[in-house]
Amino acid sequence: MIDGAIRRRAMCSAAIATLFLASAASAAELAVNGDFAGGQDPWWATGNLSPRMVDGKLCADVPGGTANPWDAIIGQNNIAVSQGDSYQFSFTASGDPGGPVRGVVQMPSDPYTAYIDLRLQAEPDGGTQSGGFTAPETRLDAQIVLQVGGRAEPWTVCFSNASLESGAEVKAYEPDTGPVARVNQLGYLPDGPKLATVVTDAETALPWRVLDASGAEIAAGETTPRGVDPSAGIKVHTVDFSSVTATGDGFVLEAGGEKSHPFAISDDVYSGLARDAMSYFYPVRSGIEIDGAIAGEKYARPAGHVSSPQDTSSPNMGDNAVPCQLPESSQKAYGEPWTCDYILDVTGGWYDAGDHGKYVVNGGISVAQLMSAYERALHIEGASDAAFADGALPVPEAGNGVPDVLDEARWELEFMLSMMVPDGKPHAGLVHHKIHDNEWTGIPLMPHLDPKVRELHRPSTAAALNLAAAAAQGSRLFQPHDAEFAATLIAAAEKAYAAAKATPDLYATVEDGASGGGPYNDDKVDDEFYWAAAELFITTGNASYRADLEASPYWSGDAFPVTGFDWGNVSALGRMSLATVPNGLSADEVDAARQSVIAAADGFIKAQDNEPFGQIYSPPEHKYDWGSTHLFVQNAIVVSRAYDFTGDAKYRDAALEAADYMFGRNALNISYVTGYGDHYAKNQHSRWFANQANADLPNPPKGSLAGGPNSSIQDPVAQRLLKGCAAQFCYVDEIESWSTNEITINWNAALSQYAAWLVEQ
Ligand code: CA
Ligand code: CA
Repeated sequence: MIDGAIRRRAMCSAAIATLFLASAASAAELAVNGDFAGGQDPWWATGNLSPRMVDGKLCADVPGGTANPWDAIIGQNNIAVSQGDSYQFSFTASGDPGGPVRGVVQMPSDPYTAYIDLRLQAEPDGGTQSGGFTAPETRLDAQIVLQVGGRAEPWTVCFSNASLESGAEVKAYEPDTGPVARVNQLGYLPDGPKLATVVTDAETALPWRVLDASGAEIAAGETTPRGVDPSAGIKVHTVDFSSVTATGDGFVLEAGGEKSHPFAISDDVYSGLARDAMSYFYPVRSGIEIDGAIAGEKYARPAGHVSSPQDTSSPNMGDNAVPCQLPESSQKAYGEPWTCDYILDVTGGWYDAGDHGKYVVNGGISVAQLMSAYERALHIEGASDAAFADGALPVPEAGNGVPDVLDEARWELEFMLSMMVPDGKPHAGLVHHKIHDNEWTGIPLMPHLDPKVRELHRPSTAAALNLAAAAAQGSRLFQPHDAEFAATLIAAAEKAYAAAKATPDLYATVEDGASGGGPYNDDKVDDEFYWAAAELFITTGNASYRADLEASPYWSGDAFPVTGFDWGNVSALGRMSLATVPNGLSADEVDAARQSVIAAADGFIKAQDNEPFGQIYSPPEHKYDWGSTHLFVQNAIVVSRAYDFTGDAKYRDAALEAADYMFGRNALNISYVTGYGDHYAKNQHSRWFANQANADLPNPPKGSLAGGPNSSIQDPVAQRLLKGCAAQFCYVDEIESWSTNEITINWNAALSQYAAWLVEQ
């Protein structure tokens, strides 16, 4: 189509450019006929598309089998842009049956540098994608291109609008941070600390008031100026209204001339949080149909990854017969070819995060923290195990006589057992590091529709030790409920541990994270050895495990990283088990383990005192890591355990105050737990909780923890929106911002453990 149209557009572009440059202060629409009211002109198309007008929309049948987005394009030329000016780009598209659209404003010739790159999965209901950018150069011949290639099957795309606006009203991304007074949007416990943070440039103290639901003042005072917050880069004051003893809903803190989000003061502020956090796991189970009557109708879906590879009626290759990577692809991953001559049935387990991969290493800490939440309740005096009882969770195994949290743990433990290398094969007893698609997929994609090949990746020492530790812990917890399963678990744990000792240095590589899944690479496994030896010693009492513990650098060394423990730094898991669960260590040794937990808690509290937002997380230079919310949750768990051991209120207060940050007392005034608070994260990166990409799909379940601020902004959306961000601002609630807004099993497992303690308080 449309050579004539391109020429006509070219003729008038100079005039438009002049107009634009002269009036840059006001908005101007640069896309010509962007609403298609004038038909197809001046939009052009690649030769494999034959655009037509349908009900006022520009539609085209897109052939199947194209490899790249740019293999099929509708576009417009001769767009004038001016270096340093800002623009807002948007387009609205629908698809039948649906397909990927990539909208780009770019240079018109090689290297086709994109000024902005937006992606949308066009569904039958249609959707809009938009974003702002600053032009890096001045030219009169930029292009708008709408790329629709890259889908295996043919589909039809329709565009109802495409817009490129210049003008002063187009600003850099600015988050809506709401009222200046930042509070815990859930609320505060009547006998707990009640602290808030006010964002203000005022150098001197400001008055504050707490109002009840009727608007009556129940407390008043003056703020404490704290200067520039080190992790947010903004000036703040703090407010302490701990003396308030009134209870109820609908309180607000008034300060700086604004009222905060409302909050409760109540004993049941956190009731339901532990149940919701633990309920995250059933809807992310692989290999089982998710029953809407249990999980909620909007979370119902067919079982994922259960088809046979021989069943060509389903696009899903299934996890019941998974081969190893091919030598050609593993060469790149490991620097040497690797494969195996067997297939494994590795159905089940949890999907790790927003993709369809399943990882033994991250599975280990996740299942361990769920079990530890329960195990603490068995051994800490006064703790409640009500949250874990049979029937407490919305899972299919409610009512089977076994605590539901153990039923949920079993779903992952059985998967981890299935990942062990069979007898008689190289590395027998070690455990495959992970299983996932051989290529990345896009959003949204339901698990049962995943068309990619599934592959087992090379066994690793770390995976074997994760299985050893988690299975050893599981064995003692399942003993009263299913002795046979308990025996299976301890046998597998001992076998995996022996295999890890025989091969102590077979590591996952970062290069094995290039295609279809994350690497979870870790080449420092002395912490994994310590954790596994600790759990095996607690369960078996075997002297050989004690000897290994004594030989570990963690026997007397610090087990608690200042940056928070995580899947690759697991010494804290072993230490807290030794300090909490009765075991064969001497009373002095157990006391030393407890003292180390208390010492770590003291360090975290000291750092918290210097944080005007009250978070228990102060990494060096306030550089927040991927998943920062779960890292401060881990620190809060350590502090809460110090309270368990000492009964000293300072630990309780600190661990309670830490929750304020998670529920809204932060720079962005957002609750990082879906469904909790007035303003909360709800568009976490997920292929099936993908409401933002497809309105027919749900948001993540209530109680899902978002990864939160990541100073390194490692995805294109974060890089476009958050450049130069101070740590607390390095977050955006966008589904494609996988580096700031992911959901994962290990983060919700940490939240589950912390929530179980919070609910008790
Ligand atoms: Ca049960
Ligand atoms: Ca490690």
